[in-house]
Amino acid sequence: MKTKIVSVLVALAVVAASPVLAAPDGVATPKREPIAYEVSPRLSGQDLTGLEVMIAFQADADGETRLNLPEKWMGHTDLWRHLSDLSVEGADSVVEDGPAARVIRSRPGRRLVLRYTVNATLAHEPRQSDGYPAEPWLRPSWFYADGPSVMIVVEGREDAPVRFQWGKAWPKAFALASNLEDGQDIDPRDSVLIGGRDLRIVRSGPVRVALRGTYPFADADLARTLDAIVRAERGFFGDAPQTPFLVTAQSLAVDDGSTFSGTGKHQGFAMTLTPNLSLDEVRVLLAHEIFHTWNPHRLGKIIGPSGYWFSEGFTDFYARRLMMRQRQITPQAFLDAWNETLLRYGTSPIIAMPGAEAAAKFWAGNGEDQLAYQRGALLAAIWDRRMRASGSSLDAVIHAQAALHARSPNTPLPQAFIEAAKAQGLDVSPDITSHIDQGRPIRLPIDTFSPCARVEDVVVPTFDLGFEPRVDDAGVRTVTKLRPDSPAARAGLHEGAVIVAKRSGVNGDAAQPYDLIVREGEGPEHTVSFLPQGSGETRYQRLILTPEASSNPALCDFPAALPGR
Ligand SMILES: [Zn+2]
Repeated sequence: MKTKIVSVLVALAVVAASPVLAAPDGVATPKREPIAYEVSPRLSGQDLTGLEVMIAFQADADGETRLNLPEKWMGHTDLWRHLSDLSVEGADSVVEDGPAARVIRSRPGRRLVLRYTVNATLAHEPRQSDGYPAEPWLRPSWFYADGPSVMIVVEGREDAPVRFQWGKAWPKAFALASNLEDGQDIDPRDSVLIGGRDLRIVRSGPVRVALRGTYPFADADLARTLDAIVRAERGFFGDAPQTPFLVTAQSLAVDDGSTFSGTGKHQGFAMTLTPNLSLDEVRVLLAHEIFHTWNPHRLGKIIGPSGYWFSEGFTDFYARRLMMRQRQITPQAFLDAWNETLLRYGTSPIIAMPGAEAAAKFWAGNGEDQLAYQRGALLAAIWDRRMRASGSSLDAVIHAQAALHARSPNTPLPQAFIEAAKAQGLDVSPDITSHIDQGRPIRLPIDTFSPCARVEDVVVPTFDLGFEPRVDDAGVRTVTKLRPDSPAARAGLHEGAVIVAKRSGVNGDAAQPYDLIVREGEGPEHTVSFLPQGSGETRYQRLILTPEASSNPALCDFPAALPGR
């Protein structure tokens, strides 16, 4: 199944704090005064038509308070378009400073009450093509709203405690959930809000799941899986195990293939997904996404695509490792995930692309992004083997890196890893120069996954269609540059034939037969079947479960060294 995975790290724009102005006598600075948020429904009869947001706070000490409206999120722009009826009780004047800012003038320190409406943006039940609620989704019986697209914030009060409540006007039949309910220490743009007459809320341990739509797994099973993920990852980093964690989910009607989209929130995760993904498929995706809570935010200063081999590759490495240790996946599923990476990497036509070029083309959409995941994960495995050979583990490096970041938050991400590794006796610089910077292909030593698995080489014929399909302006696909010695030609395909449909075949996979329905001139349609194999060979690595590990899954846990070793 084709799975398109869209994940977005929460990267809030750093809003410059207002210049510190001397407060007039007797007016305390309101910077740490709590800001109260209340969200109520706007109803037309029984139907939800909008969200009414009320925000109460103290005016700035100089009598001029600035509000920032939602502007950009996930490539969507001008998000203030969805807000209307903005008013401020207690203000002498409210002046626009461009569409995304307001300046309130009032008596210094005065209590102000901002009110505005968030309007509907979705004209139908969500489909795959709608993606994720980067703009607020509001329907007559439910809503799904992401903090960055609906929350107005008071400039310079990003650190102020937040008090949140749902308004009293919500009909009893509406279930509601937001991570704003779970604590005061939250930037409102790092929030998510969901509600509906058919919203289900299930709990497992500290995890609360609020979801709408249908899934091929039970709600309680999803909640237990999330509980296991959160427990494992918090345990790995030594975080408090009982802090609340909210996961919101909306299923999407399928257009083509499957999609999983999500974004990390303060003590939470918000997602949309198609219902053709099994819990086994969703589990490792979720473990990856939730691990981003720590990687990169707690491990180094974020530097963009040139650091993605660490933030994505190591996140894949630990998602698999921690799910294995928790018995959330079987040893075979653990190896299947690695073998998928090894196959895609080994057969990648851009395996040797230098790191700087791969980083620059990360968003280009030709597979360059996958190199970061593959290289980072494979190097993590190699470095872990080296650490284990000396009685330690890569875990010790990551823990040292988290401590280093706490002390020195301006050290850039890969540099923080290099320094932490060095302090643990591991020199990773030569490998980074060779395999990341210069792009030299990575090969796993045979015992990288001992005693769980051994590494073997697979040699397969190179993928070769034997012709070039050409598509004209009308979308008609024809066979061009057919080579007479190719399997396609030997199977009866002719130069200039029109390809009516592809029944089977996977681009890039030489082992999957191609079945094409073709037509020549005015002749009848017929089927041509062939294996898309060229004369060359492609070599990649594969992990084979050892007999010992198939009867003892603990051999695939790779536990961190015991204290004192
Ligand atoms: Zn990721």
